[in-house]
Amino acid sequence: MIVHPKNKEPKETLRFSGIAASRGIAIGPAYRYFRTLLYAEDRTLTPDEVGHEIERFDTAVQKARQEIEKVRRVAEQKVGTPASSIFEAQMMMVSDEFILSTIRQRIKHDLKPAAYAVDIEFSAHQHMLETGDNPLMRERADDVEDIKQRLLRYLLDRKKWLSKIDVPSILVAEMITPADAILFARSSVLGFAIDGGGVTSHVAILARSLGLPALVALHSAAEHIETGDIIILDGERGELIVSPDAETLKGYEQEQSYVLGSGVDLTGPLLEEDAPASRTEDGHPIKLLMNLEFGSEVAIVEAERLSDSTAASGGGKRLGLGLVRTEHFLLLHDDFPTEEDQTSLYRDLAERFYPAPVTLRTFDVGGDKVLSGSYREDNPFLGWRGLRISLDEPDLFLAQLRAILRASARNNVRLMFPMVTNVDELSRALAFLSEAKESLRSTGEAFDEKLPVGIMIEVPSAAIMAASFVPMVDYFSIGSNDLTQYTLAVDRGNDLISTLYQELHPAVLKLILMTAEAGRNGGKPVSICGELGSYPLATPLLVGMGIEEISVAPSALRALAARIKLLNYQECKDLAKRILSNSFSPEDVKRQILEFLSARQLIDPFSETTLRSGFGARLIKR
Ligand code: PEP
Ligand code: MG
Repeated sequence: MIVHPKNKEPKETLRFSGIAASRGIAIGPAYRYFRTLLYAEDRTLTPDEVGHEIERFDTAVQKARQEIEKVRRVAEQKVGTPASSIFEAQMMMVSDEFILSTIRQRIKHDLKPAAYAVDIEFSAHQHMLETGDNPLMRERADDVEDIKQRLLRYLLDRKKWLSKIDVPSILVAEMITPADAILFARSSVLGFAIDGGGVTSHVAILARSLGLPALVALHSAAEHIETGDIIILDGERGELIVSPDAETLKGYEQEQSYVLGSGVDLTGPLLEEDAPASRTEDGHPIKLLMNLEFGSEVAIVEAERLSDSTAASGGGKRLGLGLVRTEHFLLLHDDFPTEEDQTSLYRDLAERFYPAPVTLRTFDVGGDKVLSGSYREDNPFLGWRGLRISLDEPDLFLAQLRAILRASARNNVRLMFPMVTNVDELSRALAFLSEAKESLRSTGEAFDEKLPVGIMIEVPSAAIMAASFVPMVDYFSIGSNDLTQYTLAVDRGNDLISTLYQELHPAVLKLILMTAEAGRNGGKPVSICGELGSYPLATPLLVGMGIEEISVAPSALRALAARIKLLNYQECKDLAKRILSNSFSPEDVKRQILEFLSARQLIDPFSETTLRSGFGARLIKR
């Protein structure tokens, strides 16, 4: 229960939308954090000042190293080694002899003050990262800013930033650094609401590792918020609500405890005898798997830790990966990785999760994931993307297929093709797979002869024709992110039309149902790996439509498992039947689900929150 601080006039409610970088819902007072950026002024040193400036610079570097090491240790304790490696990278940057000696040169030969030399040298480095083609590198520019500010603070004689809060609060700021995120996590921070940043920023990664909800790209929300304002940070729908009215607050509090499964322990109820399955209250099993978001060690270990914790809780089986977006590995390379590089990457994953399944999807480049230097298309989402590229580049495709096969020797790898639109494409892909198998057989290389092969159902044509694919595959996996954008002609990453991006549109649901039925009739399991799988309102519908496996981001798993346990399979089937036979709009679908959840006392359907925010207008960027 949130109580308004004394002597504070209730303010008008404000709503801001941002990008949900870490899921969950936080409710509490704001803590407004100001991190002013420091800049240095230029002047010309007199020759006798040079020695002292170089000394000050060297001391500043020493101090920065000590501070980063301290933060690294706290991070290691809080989020484990992989995430704390962010600070190892910062340490390497601040120890980079090339940069340090260039700065000393600027002081000595150009007679620039140490602070100014630091400012221009690190800013140049930052600019290079920001303007590069690689989006991951662009985000790393924030780390350079962090180091620069640390050095400037010392050189300009400014006070330390205070990364501490006394009352459990939601941190609101224009920007924070990874170090701020870690240091605030030592006191009772409930979540992060940041004007800048992106989903792959280090702050976002750390928030996910810390299990704290975070919104980024809120643009200019921070300037409207003061410390003590009550806010709802909705990391499910990407919304920040400042000074909510009592009804909205009540709706969120109810939702937080029931629908999002807050406070539910993942260990224990998630595991059954023989599989990481969650069961509805009447015993219907739904297998749970995880999506691996990108090829960083941090994300892998985050998922692995969750997998381990399920095994440790007594069931003996680990959670596997329902979708590995292999194309994210490409962002880390300038070129396509070799077959050897890929084999060791995929093998490493297969080993780490063994005996749980690891679903490797072949490269889904194109669309909004354009590689540097590649051809620019007017309409990339409808262009050269996914399997289309693989089929046009046989050498690259064969190298990837051979690498996936070579990683499959212990029989826990599954192969998946993205962006399949017709049977012919799949036949051609399967022919390449046979060729890859044959070449491995001829050299006696071990692989899984029965490697399960599945396709993403993410284009309407594939869903409509699902039955024709049945004899050719071992499973289907519904890619609701693309299925929604292609069915509704709404670009999934365009915030101008994000309210039209309705995953619960009856047209999308009908395609999902067609796929589920085709799979069931043909004896092939159907899973979902798009965002819809972690969308609280969709859970009863997916269960009711007969989806057997749901693969979600690791951070969404706990809540999903908790929700499934609260549902009754028979009731979900009835709900799905009702909705699919008589809904005309997404609002209609939502209303029926809300009524259903309300009848089971899982949510308050008539709260402002749930109805107004509509559970749908989210940006799904890849
Ligand atoms: C999807 O389209 O739903 C999906 C899971 O694939 P991606 O988000 O990588 O396009
Ligand atoms: Mg997709």
